[in-house]
Amino acid sequence: GLSERLQKTFSKLRGKGKVTEADVKEMMREVRLALLEADVNFDVTKTFIKKIRERAVGSEVLDSLTPAQQIIKIVNEELTQIMGTSAVSLNKAPKIPTIIMLVGLQGAGKTTSAGKLARYLKDEKRARPLFIAADVYRPAAVEQLKTIGQQIDVPVYEEGTTASPVDIVQRGLQQAQENKNDYVLIDTAGRLEIDDQLMDELSQIKALAQPNEILLVVDSMTGQAATHVAEGFNQRLDLTGVILTKLDGDTRGGAALSIRAVTGKPIKFIGSGEKLAALEVFHPERMANRILGMGDMMTLIEKAQKDYDEQQAEELARKMQENSFDFNDFVAQLEQVQKMGPMEDIMKMIPGMGNNPALQNAKMDPKDLEHLKAIVYSMTQKERQNPDLLNPSRRRRLAAGAGRPIAEVNRMIKQFKQMQQMMQKMSNGNMAGLEQMLGG
Ligand code: GDP
Ligand code: MG
Repeated sequence: GLSERLQKTFSKLRGKGKVTEADVKEMMREVRLALLEADVNFDVTKTFIKKIRERAVGSEVLDSLTPAQQIIKIVNEELTQIMGTSAVSLNKAPKIPTIIMLVGLQGAGKTTSAGKLARYLKDEKRARPLFIAADVYRPAAVEQLKTIGQQIDVPVYEEGTTASPVDIVQRGLQQAQENKNDYVLIDTAGRLEIDDQLMDELSQIKALAQPNEILLVVDSMTGQAATHVAEGFNQRLDLTGVILTKLDGDTRGGAALSIRAVTGKPIKFIGSGEKLAALEVFHPERMANRILGMGDMMTLIEKAQKDYDEQQAEELARKMQENSFDFNDFVAQLEQVQKMGPMEDIMKMIPGMGNNPALQNAKMDPKDLEHLKAIVYSMTQKERQNPDLLNPSRRRRLAAGAGRPIAEVNRMIKQFKQMQQMMQKMSNGNMAGLEQMLGG
């Protein structure tokens, strides 16, 4: 599956100090194959890989001492992004009833999803929904909806299979007005494939009912086809959202990735079983975690982090001896410090350090760290190694590159020099100098 494959790829990076562009290329190839194998649409895969690669060959990863962690983070963020970032709730009519029309191919799960949604609305919103049975092509379809209605105590407006769907919907809506139902769920017919006759019928129902939601019900098991179906329905009906069903099965997660990207319409719910309770609000970040198999990912991140800490401690000891502490180390150091918690708290634990003004300046929140990193990442490698190169014009370039005020760039360079000085004094074993610096 997608997650195992990605994990295998990432584990190759584990323990590696730095990645090269060739590593990134190899990894992107793996991610690409994994996505295609998981039925992600070709164009979506292409765009996705392009984005990941742009970020991966940027300094964000190449200069990171934790490349595996960085890449996982990027893939996870982009997966979430592609699926829409945050959960999207159901539209609501300003005046009751809110009309929800369910469309989709035969067997996708429309009728079942109508039942699940009605149950959800009753439970979550104390709603009083009404079903309209507008699938008149199979007698069993009407019976199925009636059975579901009985199970969850929701009335069904139906006229058997003799009237036209549009007329049934019209009279059903009248009934909803009379009974003051706050939600109306229209169950429509499907076909095995998209055809004009079906689309014409659905368009007519849409024109008449003017639904607040047109939800496409798609079977996630159909893989690549799900994306094409979504595209087709969206072109004709201008959907408002998607319900992705059968995610409980041996489903390849590709559909969820592609549908939002291709149609621009949010997945609002997922179906995870045949029972009427098996409906979940769709959360992109959860789906991304699920696709990546985040449980194991977290372990991997922790492991990568641990390797990094040990490696970095050694590296730092060496640098102190060589007096070669540079901006790369500076950022790594700040990140390290940030992980330990607020600077003030740490300082308080070190005797004699509590009142040192230079170190209190180092207090910062995560946003500050991001800003400092942006400034460092705007530097060339030469500049990172030699802060003396940073003349006023270069500092202006950094400020522009990082989108930060020049004063902040200056402040950071000063802070860096203080830290570098401290490193030098410590490495010389000059405790007197250290004490002096600490204001002792
Ligand atoms: P319709 O033709 O689009 O109305 O589809 P139905 O609602 O009749 O569902 C077709 C079949 O899919 C039925 O056997 C449902 O029980 C099943 N089904 C629907 N949603 C899900 C789901 O989320 N998971 C599973 N496993 N089966 C589902
Ligand atoms: Mg049906």
